Order: sequence, then structure tokens, then C-alpha cells
Amino acid sequence: MPFDTIIGHERPKRFLQAALRSERLAHALLFHGEERIGKLLTARVLAQAVNCEADPPPDPPDACGACRSCHQIEAGSHPDVTILTATSGKGETESAREIESRFIYRPLIGRLKIVILDNADLLRREAANALLKTIEEPPPDSLIILVSSRPEALLPTTNQVPPPREPGHGGEHQRASVGM
Ligand SMILES: [Zn+2]
Repeated sequence: MPFDTIIGHERPKRFLQAALRSERLAHALLFHGEERIGKLLTARVLAQAVNCEADPPPDPPDACGACRSCHQIEAGSHPDVTILTATSGKGETESAREIESRFIYRPLIGRLKIVILDNADLLRREAANALLKTIEEPPPDSLIILVSSRPEALLPTTNQVPPPREPGHGGEHQRASVGM
């Protein structure tokens, strides 16, 4: 679904579309903001926009919402896009390993391999450290999106992901923080 279907959040939407247009989207993004305001939804729309197969592509860059790729991402069946939810339980390190393993291979049909990790602040130190390696040395053609309503709790990664700030800065860096 296109960015337009997300109610509000004009600044982050404009920031992401400008980054896509200039091909300066960071390799690792942190989406932060209050709970249930559409962070995960926005991350998914971004994944669709990145891998949209519409020809000609939407202008400004967007998800067409109608192509095979957009449908697959909506349905959770796109081979290059993985959406995970971190838990504070035992499986957390598995999440980090899962993310690493997802990036071993190049994209199959999309432009980028994308992993979205919701509730990223629930990862504890060991898992977060495993994830950090992926964030620090992003594999080619990869995009990792951390989603968190408590970015201050991302302790082990605070040195790595820039602190929350207004969208519109940092798009040209490897890592960017998107406030919603
Ligand atoms: Zn599309």
C-alpha cells in the first residue's frame, strides 16, 4: 500500500521518499515513536516501495500496492522481506541469528534484502550484539529496519544507531533514525 494510506506522519514519509529518490537510503534504520502509531506499517510500506516492481516506478518513489512484490510483502510471502518480532524470551538470540542468516544470500527478486525487527528494544545484550555486527557491516543490497517504541532501551546499540532526532538528517549515512 502506498505511503498515502498512512495517516499523518508527513515528515517521516517525506524523509523516506526523499532518501529513496536520491538513492541515499541508509542500510540500517531505526523507526521510533509511541506505541501503535504506525511505525511497523510505515516500515512495511518502505519495504514495498524499495522492492516495488511497477514499471514505470511510482514518482515520487512509493509502493504501487498492486504489483507482485507489493502483494507478497503485504501477505508476508516475499522471499527477500522478513518481518520479525523480538521477544524478551529465550528465542531472542534466535531472532538475531535469523536476521544474520537472512542476509547470507543476495536478493532473489527484489532490489534489497530487507529485515524488519519489531520491538527491537526487547532484544537483550547477547542478541543485540549479534545484531550489531550486521548493522555495523551491512551486507551488500541489504536493509535492516529496527522498530521500537522505547529506543532508549536499545542499550547495547545506542552507540551504533544515532540517537532519535528529527527526520531529515542522516539519510546519507549508513544508519539513520526516523522519529514518528
Ligand atoms: Zn508495487
